[in-house]
Amino acid sequence: MSTSLAAPFYRRVALLGIGLVGSSMAHAIRRGKLADHVACWSRRAETRATARRLKLCDSVHDKLTDAVAGADLVVLCAPIGANAELAQAMAPALARGATISDVGSVKQAVVRDVGPFVPEGVHFVPGHPVAGTEHSGPESGFAEMFEQRWCILTPPPGTDPAAVQRLGALWTAMGSRVEFMDPAHHDRVLAITSHLPHLIAYTIVGTVTDLEDHLRREAADAGRMVDRAEVVKFSAGGFRDFTRIAASDPVMWRDIFLNNREAVLEMLGRFSEDLAALQRAIRWGESEKLEVLFRRTRDIRRGIIQAGQAGTFKATEPDKG
Ligand code: NAP
Repeated sequence: MSTSLAAPFYRRVALLGIGLVGSSMAHAIRRGKLADHVACWSRRAETRATARRLKLCDSVHDKLTDAVAGADLVVLCAPIGANAELAQAMAPALARGATISDVGSVKQAVVRDVGPFVPEGVHFVPGHPVAGTEHSGPESGFAEMFEQRWCILTPPPGTDPAAVQRLGALWTAMGSRVEFMDPAHHDRVLAITSHLPHLIAYTIVGTVTDLEDHLRREAADAGRMVDRAEVVKFSAGGFRDFTRIAASDPVMWRDIFLNNREAVLEMLGRFSEDLAALQRAIRWGESEKLEVLFRRTRDIRRGIIQAGQAGTFKATEPDKG
């Protein structure tokens, strides 16, 4: 996205929630001087104390409305399930001409939950930075998190183009590539590229752990010693990557699945069919079929690397959400 706007893009940005994404935004905005003032509010006193100790923002507020007062951009950075309550609470404090946005991983639910509370004269531009790690909380954020990552904006039809352009410019300045989508399309695309892989990781880690318990009981019954958990011992065989994904925040992911139910179930149906076909190919020894699929998927991985989306910043691989 090209823009002629220059930083600072906003006078005051209010971040509601200062976990991984909120604190990364605070770092990126303050590093680039992309707003004159970054204010934040978080639900728990403990999180606010951490935000103060780390000096994440210019001001940290105990009351949500104090953070929002005078802001020309308010970004909801809490789990999706909290959005309706937060939108209702902040509505009376919003200045005319301000923009409300969010970072939620599901977009139709945000339109449904926040849309009804957007006051007259306030712009609403939902967003989703497709960036992250498996860590959470105010100490996990870092300024580079959005670099080279997509940020998808889903403004409802008729949204003021200047408000959309300004928010796009902010994300571009934080290092993201900005893309626009219809919320329903976003939810289907992310269901297959992000939500389903997480579901599979959660399942596999659960299944392996149950299986290991079973094997340990069998070994104990047979009088054999089990020196160390085999799950940990042999985790480099592919399982380790799943455990990283499956370590993602439980509340955030609970909300993603509950709020993108239709799309996730649709993709799960397609995936189950393909998995059954693979099961059959293994059973019937269809070597060519297996090899063709594995070659195709290897090419996809290479394409992701070429597109610069494989990610290698910090100690962790990027996710997600
Ligand atoms: P996080 O690190 O767990 O932080 C969550 C924040 O939301 C904390 O400030 C927490 O406040 C607050 N919060 C939690 N429950 C709340 C509630 N019921 N009411 C009000 N505030 C609440 O989460 P995150 O990873 O930053 O995720 C935030 C949003 O970003 C989610 O909507 C997620 O879908 C989206 N997202 C995440 C990623 C990712 O990789 N993690 C990537 C893209 C988008 P307290 O600590 O004060 O309780």
